[in-house]
This record gives sequence, C-alpha cells and structure tokens, in this order.
Amino acid sequence: MKRRHFLLGFSSLPILTPVMNSLSELHALPASDTMPVLFVGHGSPMNGIEDNEFSRRWKKLGEEVPVPKAVLCISAHWLTKGTHITAMEKPKTIHDFGGFPEELFKVQYNAPGSPSLAKETSELVKKTNVGLDHDWGLDHGTWSITKQMFPKADIPVLQLSIDYARPPQYHYDLGKELAALRNKGVLILGSGNMVHNLRMVAWDKLDAPEYGFDWAHEINASFKKYITERNHTALINYQQLGNAAKLAIPTPDHYYPLLYTLGLQNKNEQTTFFNDKAVGGSLTMTSVRIG
Ligand code: ZN
Repeated sequence: MKRRHFLLGFSSLPILTPVMNSLSELHALPASDTMPVLFVGHGSPMNGIEDNEFSRRWKKLGEEVPVPKAVLCISAHWLTKGTHITAMEKPKTIHDFGGFPEELFKVQYNAPGSPSLAKETSELVKKTNVGLDHDWGLDHGTWSITKQMFPKADIPVLQLSIDYARPPQYHYDLGKELAALRNKGVLILGSGNMVHNLRMVAWDKLDAPEYGFDWAHEINASFKKYITERNHTALINYQQLGNAAKLAIPTPDHYYPLLYTLGLQNKNEQTTFFNDKAVGGSLTMTSVRIG
C-alpha cells in the first residue's frame, strides 16, 4: 500500500487566533501567545534514548515550538480512578516497562514539577475535581518524549491522569477546559498511539520500514482525514468506525490522549502531521501538531 508522507510540505506556522480564556484564574504564569498543542505517538520506550527517525523529529520539534513555561502531559500510561495532576516539586522518573536494556532503566529525567501550576490547573477545571497527586511522577509516555524535546530538563513537567472509567466524550471535554493554559506558555502534550494493538504486533517486522497491516493503514488514513476535516465527533465515536478501528483500539488507553488534544483545537486552527508511519504492523507513530 502506498503511503503518503505528511512529514514535509505542511506549513508549521502557528495560527494566532484569539481565544477565550480565564486569565484571571491563572496566576502562576504570565500571559503568552497561544502555544501549540501536540499529540505524539510514543511507541517503544527505546525512542527515549535511541537516535532514530522518530526521536530526531522530537528533538527538532523541541526547537520549533516556542519555549514553554511548563509542559502538561496526558500520558497513556497513567490511568486512574478520578482525575489527578502531579503536584510535587520533583517528580520521579518512572520506569514502567519490562524486558528492555539496562540503560533504559538508568534514565533519570530530572525536570522540576510545579505545585503552583498543578493547583491552578485543578482550580481551572470545573467539570470534575482534579486531585493533587504526590505519588506518581513522570512515566515513560512523558519522559521518553520530553527527554528528546527538552534534554536539559529545565522546564517544569506535569502529568494529568486519565480517568479510565469515563467515556471518550469526557476526555474531549476535559481537554477543552485546559484551554487557558495555552495562553500561559504551557505546552499541552497528549502521549499515546492512535493505532496500538500490542497483541497483534509482528515482532519480527519491528525493524522493517513502515510495516503496517492493511487495516492499520486504512484506519490511520481515516483518523488523519477526520482530524484534518475537524470531524471530532467521528473521532470521539471511534467505536462506530468499523472493524479497523476495533483492531486499532482494542483498549482506549493510547487513544484517549488524542481526544484531549483535539478538545483544545481552536476554531480555524490548522493541524499538521509528523512521524506518520506504521511500526510492527499494528502500531502507528502518527502525531499531530495543532496550531
Ligand atoms: Zn505506550
């Protein structure tokens, strides 16, 4: 199957649209231009330490976006009952995986947290009670990307958990409530994978370039079409997108971060794709920049 490359040729100029926000509710950080929002396909934890096409793109992305005052990541790897935000001064690096080389377990990403931003984000969200968390830290869904984007680890990084009992619409709507943060220099990052079926991975094909099953290519193209057309309703109701979607999203943990980022898209804001490739048959690294 022929694949189109969306890596090049798209404008990455941010569209500066005025947005409604509640600046008065956020005191920790000064006002900024509207920050872009990212959904990043994180794939293997090894992308956090390897020099490969995906991690190189993340490095470049770190240079392209305006320097954030803080990063707020919604990672596929922090699923909770209720919604929580990391609120400690020094979040620990969590090695939430097994069977990888020792050097991956030695990674420490010592970005600071921001208790004040955690508190203000919690106050900003009205639809649910966002608990201040002092136990989690940064899981590999977050640090594998931020380590490449911001290697100096000098920008505060926070995580917002995914209330796994809630339906897709909840996550999309909760994303919307974070909009004011974009005008406070906060880079909101959803970290997951749009197509993520670990049970079907062709482990012997992991190193094959752009190896994706037909259904993975098919649904990846549909996801991109809906994102480009801003058809968020179709993406929220992904369970109605047929068999390919069922195979792509056997469980929604890696998909929900996308819904947070889509909820943050302002009217007329453009989307651009990067790392738009399939890996191991049943995964895609396809990532989106909004604004
Ligand atoms: Zn993952």
